Amino acid sequence: MSYTVTDIAELVTYHLIASAPHDDAAHDNLVQLVQQLELLAPRPLRQEATWVFCDRCGCSDDTDLIHPDSHHCADGGDLHCGPCWDSST
Ligand SMILES: [Zn+2]
Repeated sequence: MSYTVTDIAELVTYHLIASAPHDDAAHDNLVQLVQQLELLAPRPLRQEATWVFCDRCGCSDDTDLIHPDSHHCADGGDLHCGPCWDSST
């Protein structure tokens, strides 16, 4: 029998959170679980966020939001946020 992620999340909820005597114990359980899961992951589960700034209005954007084909990059390499891009096209 295999378990789905939802099944395992229910086990975590019941055994590590709901049955913990207090919030700090539930937190400690989750920290331990995440540490062990990170050892299993084929690549890091988290990555450092990097930010860029719109060259038109100056707002900041997480680089993860930049389209892989450089959508929103104007000729000359300027990066425009979504609203600026939409208003210029
Ligand atoms: Zn902008």
